[in-house]
Amino acid sequence: MDAAAELVKLQQTLEKDFANLPLATKSSDLVHGEGNAETKVMLIGEAPGYYESVQRRPFVGKSGQLLRKVLAEVKLPPESVWISNIVKVRPPENRDPTPEEIAAFRPYLNEEIKLIDPEIVVTLGRFSMAKFLPDVKISQVHGRLHKVQWEGKLLYIMPMYHPAAGLRSTQVKESFIADFKKVPKILNWIKQQQQVEKTKQTIEEALF
Ligand code: URA
Repeated sequence: MDAAAELVKLQQTLEKDFANLPLATKSSDLVHGEGNAETKVMLIGEAPGYYESVQRRPFVGKSGQLLRKVLAEVKLPPESVWISNIVKVRPPENRDPTPEEIAAFRPYLNEEIKLIDPEIVVTLGRFSMAKFLPDVKISQVHGRLHKVQWEGKLLYIMPMYHPAAGLRSTQVKESFIADFKKVPKILNWIKQQQQVEKTKQTIEEALF
């Protein structure tokens, strides 16, 4: 089964499990990730807001419009990446998700990440950043590429401000855009690294 079909299966599992999940009163409260299952770039936000819960799509409200516009500007159209959230149901009044809520959705998100198998994860805001980079401050690390071991695999993490923060402050919005402009360059750099590795292996195989 390909990744797209596996992701549909995962979403069906989540819907079957809704009664065991916090925040959800019915399976249609769930807002799943969406995009290109074969992508190298996965974006993870916090939790759906009002418009996301109505449309059942991630990042379609005001902050989502900013995110999608910036993605298109850096030639990473939203449909070319995978966009998801730490928590998949809207918390009341859009409050911060609790540690228990984050923990309840964690196994599903972990499975989602494994199925997408991205080369780079862009974390949007502090909750998704904390999944990979605990004990850092977003103001100090945003826009800086981090290499982490996650579930036995090397993963590049690019922490970014949440687009909602960009709507509240011009300075943050400028940083958000500047950080996103780095992503295509990082993808090129990762590709070059992989080619160097491949060449090294070919030479080693020929010599030894
Ligand atoms: N904010 C998020 O973190 N995720 C969404 O899907 C929408 C707004």
